[in-house]
Amino acid sequence: MNKLSHVSSQQKLNTLHDLGDVAFDEDDQSLFVIDDFQLKADAIRQSILPRMHIVINHAIAMIREIYAINIFEDSHVTQSPNFRRGRKQEFALDYTWATVGLSGKRAKGLWDGFERKDGSSVQVLPFLYEFGLTPDGASIRLKNFWMTGMSDASYSKLMRFHLEHADIIHSLCYRSGILPVLQWGKDCEPFSTFTEHYQWMVDNRVFDNDFYLRPASYPISIHAVAELIYRFVVFFPVYDSYIQIAKGQAVRIQELIDSLNAGYNPAHFYMDITYPQPFESPDIIEKARLLASERVRPMVSLRWQVFQRDGWKCVACGRSSKTDGVILHLDHIVPRSKGGQDSLDNFQTLCSLCNLGKSDRDDTDLR
Ligand SMILES: [Zn+2]
Repeated sequence: MNKLSHVSSQQKLNTLHDLGDVAFDEDDQSLFVIDDFQLKADAIRQSILPRMHIVINHAIAMIREIYAINIFEDSHVTQSPNFRRGRKQEFALDYTWATVGLSGKRAKGLWDGFERKDGSSVQVLPFLYEFGLTPDGASIRLKNFWMTGMSDASYSKLMRFHLEHADIIHSLCYRSGILPVLQWGKDCEPFSTFTEHYQWMVDNRVFDNDFYLRPASYPISIHAVAELIYRFVVFFPVYDSYIQIAKGQAVRIQELIDSLNAGYNPAHFYMDITYPQPFESPDIIEKARLLASERVRPMVSLRWQVFQRDGWKCVACGRSSKTDGVILHLDHIVPRSKGGQDSLDNFQTLCSLCNLGKSDRDDTDLR
């Protein structure tokens, strides 16, 4: 059958039942290279980001279940692009990514563990933990920004955390697949221990400290999405430690690891993630450049054309992904089995709820 033979289908269903039908396919990937920037921005806002919010909400629920932590005490959910009015991004519609993640709340007096270079207090934390969708696939990263002007002493606190907990962080990296970008230089060879790398980074004030999961390639099945969520939850203790350090409190990583071990279930690793084959399928950006050089306009997939025509709403009930959290589907008005064509005028937008109610034999134009 498949690689999941060690997991019963019942186990899979129990873990996935809240996830609905969130997945990301080649139409999502193709979105990033089309040259209709307005359609691209609308699709990211109306279809991609709402699905990614379902993903992060699922991760937040799992974090509450496994670690008994309420994320919203210290963190909030961020998204990019954020389409805020009056920002420069409003005019930069040629997006090649979408991310949804966690970062510390913008707050006065909460982040006493950090200080700015001039000694004043920090209101915005210089790191975030996010899911990202790019032309390459779906990824996770713990990203640090070092341009916010915190003092070296503040940055060094994060580095010291890595030095003190290198062994257990290594285990989290191994299980989650979320790997550090380890810097090296004079007196630190490319192949060194975690401790040697972080010591070198502290000594040389190199505070670039990002962690990445290699992107899972399209199509990203619901099982791959569930596995990404679990990997995000497994690596969460590192993000939580950053938050505790920022608050000026002791990290609680060992307690979180204990909770993780208590609830460990190998069935959460669905093994459905696949990786791009770089030599078999050329990079999609390269493909787009090739098409542009040959003056071929990349086709906007029928799905995006239909959603756009129908105003990003279910034609039967009017629900949208952005407002109501439903997933939109492409529906044949006259089914294929009755000779219906794959053409623009034979498709309509239905939400998952209405789509379930309409059987395959029922050729109804619901508009
Ligand atoms: Zn509907």
